[in-house]
Amino acid sequence: MSGGGGPSRRALLGLGSNVGDRWEHLRGAVAGMPDVVEVSTVYETAPVGGPEQGPYLNCVVRLETDLSPRVLLGLCREREMAAGRVRRVRWGPRTLDVDILWVDGESVDDEDLTVPHPRMYERAFVLIPLRDVAPDLVDEIPGGSIVDDIVPVGPLVGTTGA
Ligand code: ATP
Ligand code: MG
Ligand code: MG
Repeated sequence: MSGGGGPSRRALLGLGSNVGDRWEHLRGAVAGMPDVVEVSTVYETAPVGGPEQGPYLNCVVRLETDLSPRVLLGLCREREMAAGRVRRVRWGPRTLDVDILWVDGESVDDEDLTVPHPRMYERAFVLIPLRDVAPDLVDEIPGGSIVDDIVPVGPLVGTTGA
């Protein structure tokens, strides 16, 4: 795959945007990521936590990659910077958030990197798109007003040709 040297395995990234051209931020992030093999449907979702802010577009991307979680984190941060992300308040509005959700066979517990993502199983806005591309990882979706808060809005065209 991208020259990490080891065997390639599945990695799942969660993407979100609620500032500026949200579609373009997701599209640019996916186009700029190596080894992407599948992209979920894009969902419009109500913000969870943080200050009052506008709705997100969320999707999950599946990679088949030999890159390590740490190298992937660097790529996630690069995509966020390319989208002009500015960190102000925790869980505040952002042009682009790219989180590593899961890498098959990998577990990381460092100060600046935790994989699997520690909050993924609480978040319907992660689990619903994750279920599209990795159904084996999603046993159940937490309850609540999912139908109202997480609405499929269509495919992300123009990235992997899918
Ligand atoms: P949340 O982690 O609750 O989704 P967030 O995505 O808004 O919050 P950020 O401001 O994007 O948080 O990231 C803060 C830091 O989290 C990053 O600089 C990164 O070092 C760290 N981090 C830890 N684990 C991960 C992970 N699995 N994926 C991405 N970033 C992570
Ligand atoms: Mg996040
Ligand atoms: Mg993040």
